Amino acid sequence: MTALTLKDAVIRYDRLTAVDGVSLELRRGETLGLVGESGCGKSSIARAIVGLQPLADGTLTIEGETLQEVSSQRKQALQRKIQLLFQDPAASLSPRMTVRSLLAEPLKIRGTYTPERWARILELAVSIGLGEQLLSRCPHQLSGGQARRVALVRALAAEPSIIVADEPTAGLDISVQGDLLNLLRALRDRLGLSYLLISHNLNVVGRVTDRVAVMYLGQIVESGPTAALFRAPAHPYTQALLSANLTLDASRRGERIVLSGELPSPSNPPSGCRFHKRCPFAQPKCSIDVPALQAGPGERSVACHFPLSTASVVTPQAIAG
Ligand code: SF4
Repeated sequence: MTALTLKDAVIRYDRLTAVDGVSLELRRGETLGLVGESGCGKSSIARAIVGLQPLADGTLTIEGETLQEVSSQRKQALQRKIQLLFQDPAASLSPRMTVRSLLAEPLKIRGTYTPERWARILELAVSIGLGEQLLSRCPHQLSGGQARRVALVRALAAEPSIIVADEPTAGLDISVQGDLLNLLRALRDRLGLSYLLISHNLNVVGRVTDRVAVMYLGQIVESGPTAALFRAPAHPYTQALLSANLTLDASRRGERIVLSGELPSPSNPPSGCRFHKRCPFAQPKCSIDVPALQAGPGERSVACHFPLSTASVVTPQAIAG
């Protein structure tokens, strides 16, 4: 069953097309990772999904209902099923309010405050480590991990079915990151949530996601089950991201690909394959023909004229030879 579907989404800021024809499917109960360099369009997708940025084209379907086809009242109700976890939660918490007030605030704003709901929120807060002694503190008296827990409980107060988490572990120590990821996974299973997790940190994505979609310059270039995709990427960009981010085992160190050049501007994307100017495998065809995102076996999809073998990773030297 699908929790959310984004189809052929286009997002524009004035004349800049930040997202160009992206389709994504988030299944119920799964965690889908969306990865790519900063500026590739992944945060624009998060903003569009939670209703902070309109789609210039394409559709968004939440639990079977397409937002472009329902009344504005129904659209608001559907969009409330999705909550965004901000990258910097401390900035979204009013500095003068106590944790207790911050946790009650979403219920009061929505007019959904009842003693039973408030009791459930407090129980949830305590169960994830926000005990009584923290409830009277203000945001500046919280650690990074505690501030994220407050933001998480505030998001859950709306009783969402989908959480969009934008770089949820950014700026946290490794051990705190691990605790937060374990907590997110436990809450997903306990509350039947689905997550869209946006991150440039592939160690985080590899640890908690079921499937992953890789973005480059406003488009999806590869997607598939996380374990299979990380083990054997089919798109050269995915391979480059993985080799730069992950601690490869000793037998694979020779496969490291270092990307040359900066991410081109989305206002003037390269012709043909948008990655061709940085791709170590580029051929003449790549600068002319746009590669379509093609579905393959094992729920894998890749947009590349010369995909790497998914049975074994191919090096640039092998192609040149
Ligand atoms: Fe590289 Fe060509 Fe594939 Fe693009 S289509 S990723 S340039 S090999």
